[in-house]
Amino acid sequence: MADPVPIAMGQGSSCWGCFQSLVDIHLRLADVLPALDIKYWQAVADFKLHHLESYGDKSIVVGLYEGMARTEEDIHLLKLMREKCQIMIAFGSCSCFGGIPGLANQYDIEECYDVKFRENKTVKGGKVPSENLPGIASVVKPNTDYIDFDIFLPGCPPTSDLIFTAVSALLSGQPIDLPPHAVCHYCNREKKETPVEKILRPYEGIADPDRCLLEQGYICVGSSTWGLCEGQCVNKGATCRGCFGPTPPITQDHGAASISMLGSYAPLETEEIRQQVKDPLGTFWRVDYPTSHLGRMRIRREEAKEK
Ligand code: SF4
Ligand code: SF4
Ligand code: SF4
Repeated sequence: MADPVPIAMGQGSSCWGCFQSLVDIHLRLADVLPALDIKYWQAVADFKLHHLESYGDKSIVVGLYEGMARTEEDIHLLKLMREKCQIMIAFGSCSCFGGIPGLANQYDIEECYDVKFRENKTVKGGKVPSENLPGIASVVKPNTDYIDFDIFLPGCPPTSDLIFTAVSALLSGQPIDLPPHAVCHYCNREKKETPVEKILRPYEGIADPDRCLLEQGYICVGSSTWGLCEGQCVNKGATCRGCFGPTPPITQDHGAASISMLGSYAPLETEEIRQQVKDPLGTFWRVDYPTSHLGRMRIRREEAKEK
């Protein structure tokens, strides 16, 4: 048997769902784990940051970074992993695009503190904690603003099958060959090319189980979303909310493509659409606001304030 491959798994600001999905490969872990020499995985094994700091540059073959880098500690870990690892994987949509935590960029940091600490409904006279905590960046920047990645593995979270495929390819020295199709490609629903008369919230009406949800008025962003999940929501009755981000090349603006598709299906006045779509940022840029054109402008504005 070949020598185990040195691997590091780091976590920035995130929910741990991506690593949970890795653990969810269940019995197949029995095949994968003996092939790994885990050098760092702070959430699972008792490694400290100084262990990672002590390894030689590029001495670890594969690094997976989950989450976005909001605190100084996250940013340090991200840069450190780039130094130590030969192949860096942006693991999950937070790491690839900023993820759901990136939606915090529609507020400034003081407004975030208000919601979290000062005016939190479960706390009276709340204060922002300040002792023994790392500094926090004023805005969520995409991880790619700090380091280059070799592989992007999006998903919120990436499916266990996708993780298994990717890790197995890496361990056998093969390239990770991911199909480029959008979610619509995997969707079993029929499209009749009929216009949308009214935009519906998911709880309104009862959707025809065989017809395209978007044509029925439910906002489904499957046409602009990378279908690495093989359409698991749309084939089970729920709309696609875009959790795998844009189709390759993943640098395109996912939300703009989704709005364009909605516009072509819904011949409604702009104001009518604006009133019917609640939370446009969360609907069209659910996992990739920081990497979008609008999100970039927001980040630049914050950077200009800091100069
Ligand atoms: S991509 Fe989704 S599942 Fe993964 S850490 Fe971010 S929020 Fe959690
Ligand atoms: S828009 Fe959604 S429901 Fe319609 S075909 Fe595409 S994935 Fe299926
Ligand atoms: S169908 Fe859409 S929301 Fe559901 S897992 Fe796939 S990409 Fe994510």
